[in-house]
Amino acid sequence: MRYDRLEGCRICPRLAAHLDQVRDTHPGYRCLPVGAAGSASSKLLLVGLAPGLHGANRTGRPFTGDASGTFLFAALARAGLASDPDPLKARLVNVRLTNAVKCLPPQNRPTAAEMEACSGYLRGEIGELWSPRVKLARCVLCLGRLAHRSVGIAIGQRLPEFRHGQLCEVVPNLWVADSYHPSRQNTNTRRLTTEMFDVVLEDVKSVVGLAS
Ligand code: SF4
Repeated sequence: MRYDRLEGCRICPRLAAHLDQVRDTHPGYRCLPVGAAGSASSKLLLVGLAPGLHGANRTGRPFTGDASGTFLFAALARAGLASDPDPLKARLVNVRLTNAVKCLPPQNRPTAAEMEACSGYLRGEIGELWSPRVKLARCVLCLGRLAHRSVGIAIGQRLPEFRHGQLCEVVPNLWVADSYHPSRQNTNTRRLTTEMFDVVLEDVKSVVGLAS
């Protein structure tokens, strides 16, 4: 699968039809697959589940335009990983953002087959982050259980069960970390608080040599 073909990808018929339908009802929304944001030479890759209807699906940039992005960019700015807490103004610093599934799924729930189909793009992004030739630590932070599962598929490794705050070196110099997703549902219920997420970001910065 060629990563440069992402924008025109319609491999998943259900998701392609859904994007066409959403484009009809929201003509100003981008409604295309959404690739990664941030430099490919970053030390950290944060992986969410899929573009949000009014967020990345509208703006074309992961975690930009909805409540998840507001929470995430504020945390990235506190951690020195974004130049500004405003997702529309921020420049990412040593961190790249992406999603496991690049197209908006109905009810925010991709199927297992769609996650598998899209794993080649995520594999490409992880391949830009880390390779066995690079002898420096790199880290993938999975935002939520399904992102964790997709990262395991993409790297072809059986990962430990998802656990918020977990951080493990799955192959030499490639670390995988877990956090609850910064969805409105998780942050409003305080399943994920700013303090909890700040701790995760400090941990992942530490393993890649970016500690404050
Ligand atoms: S989810 Fe991924 S594989 Fe499926 S159509 Fe979108 S970009 Fe292509």
